[in-house]
Amino acid sequence: MFDNLSFKLDRAFKTLKGTGTITEINVASTVKEIRRALIDADVNYKVAKDVTDRIKEEALGRDVLIAVSPGQLLVKITQEELTKLMGGAKEDINLKGDPAVVLISGLQGSGKTTFSGKLAAFLKKQGRQVLLVGCDIYRPAAIEQLKTLGGQIGVEVYAEPENKDAVTIAKNAIAHAKKTGKKTVIIDTAGRLAVDDKMMDEISVLKSTVNPSETLFVVDSMTGQDAVNTAKTFDERLDFDGVVLTKLDGDSRGGAAISIRHVVNKPIKFISTGEKMENLDIFYPDRMAQRILG
Ligand code: GDP
Repeated sequence: MFDNLSFKLDRAFKTLKGTGTITEINVASTVKEIRRALIDADVNYKVAKDVTDRIKEEALGRDVLIAVSPGQLLVKITQEELTKLMGGAKEDINLKGDPAVVLISGLQGSGKTTFSGKLAAFLKKQGRQVLLVGCDIYRPAAIEQLKTLGGQIGVEVYAEPENKDAVTIAKNAIAHAKKTGKKTVIIDTAGRLAVDDKMMDEISVLKSTVNPSETLFVVDSMTGQDAVNTAKTFDERLDFDGVVLTKLDGDSRGGAAISIRHVVNKPIKFISTGEKMENLDIFYPDRMAQRILG
């Protein structure tokens, strides 16, 4: 994960670690290298500039020039600033309500259906009774995919394959959950290949009807800056509660993970690192910063 970025950051710090007497110029040039590495990793330009300005300010403020190991101190400061940038502390999914409703949004192919299954398995492990709901009315294969996943993890899947009205399906599903004592309802919705008004209208109506305690936006981390822009558009229309970053096992350059919180101001709550049901992790900003720094 983020091998290239980690390598470049390590190289930036190595130069400083190998320098005898540290000057403000050495620090400035290391910080510049950090910025370049972040931009190469597809981090939003303004985000890269802001965070490296803060790293420099902190470094000079904390007397990095007279520190015993200035290189190590700069690594520590960078780690702290990246952690802050990605949200500081982890934030949990909100499962208030009986049943609690979780709405899954995102573009087609982002990994919504796979994540819905993973989340169901994750919550089931915690002892919650879960109902998965297939509301992708345009892609019959999505419902089949969800049923297969449900079978694998032992979670019931509610679907009405002949019904083309997502709102009615969701309402019926919630009534079914109440009747059968399910405490959590996860609704997988339809996505398109690009943001379009019709999709946004449909999911907005769905959201206001089912009143979810948690609306999650799922995004493919490999799409870099596009992931951040799509997140912004979805948030403007949907005011979601959290982000799920998928495909972090691929050759993601890391830009989305680093920029999204700062640009959209919504927390990343989960990361997905593979196609298997167990490839799901809670997002911890500090652990991610540590991983980025290698
Ligand atoms: P949806 O259209 O948003 O519901 O997307 P899907 O859940 O169908 O996922 C699209 C493709 O991405 C499928 O082939 C999934 O197996 C794959 N996929 C989903 N999440 C991940 C992940 O974290 N890593 C990898 N490598 N593939 C994933």
